[in-house]
Amino acid sequence: MSLQIHQFLCLSDNLCVLLHDTATGATAAIDAPDATPIVAALERKGWALSDILLTHHHADHIQGVPGLKAAFPDVRVSGPALEADKIGELDRELGDGDKVMIGTHEAKVLAVPGHTRGHIAYWFAPDRLLFAGDTLFAMGCGRAFETPPSVLYHSLMKLAALPGETQVYCGHEYTLANARFALSVEPENETLRRRAEAVAALRAEGQFTLPTQIDLEQATNPFLRVEEPEIQKSLGLQNAPAAEAFAALR
Ligand code: ZN
Ligand code: FE
Repeated sequence: MSLQIHQFLCLSDNLCVLLHDTATGATAAIDAPDATPIVAALERKGWALSDILLTHHHADHIQGVPGLKAAFPDVRVSGPALEADKIGELDRELGDGDKVMIGTHEAKVLAVPGHTRGHIAYWFAPDRLLFAGDTLFAMGCGRAFETPPSVLYHSLMKLAALPGETQVYCGHEYTLANARFALSVEPENETLRRRAEAVAALRAEGQFTLPTQIDLEQATNPFLRVEEPEIQKSLGLQNAPAAEAFAALR
């Protein structure tokens, strides 16, 4: 029951992930920023695309769908029901609690509104894998484009409650800039300082900083730590409710 994972860059800073179930050959792309590099990666691996799992409707996550469908006519496109009208090419519309199978591997759909109103994440519980799209980033989070910040905060808390060892794949490699911002609001966080150094070294070598891990985010991501006195002080707040501090930080 093994699942192979291949992560690579698309466009300027989008991360695309291919999941391959060795038992059945089923292969999924998480989001579709750009068909050309995704098809090239599939060819190199010798994998045939069976599924596309979309997290939200933004162009940099869906614009590769037509090209992938042209290359793999039988591919099944799954994505958020609440954004089906904007995406337009869904074979399967998903909502909170729905299950998706990639070969023998099951993912549960988590509704995580905020960045967009219908944004979903894919949680492969037995594999301890989360595909968070543009909701949670390493030491950061997406912008609340389509809901009040409190809605995004609630979604982030839902993801933060997953098991600490969960590996988290995100829609973008924004980690270096996120680390600088995180340090600016929580400079005394020793774990954060060490992580920022490690991230800078990885990026200097041209390496990805993702996946991240839920427990590492809990220790270093300021958007999950808005109740910390040091962060609230940086925001000019004291004992503020979490949602209020989050809105100030975001
Ligand atoms: Zn987006
Ligand atoms: Fe994006």
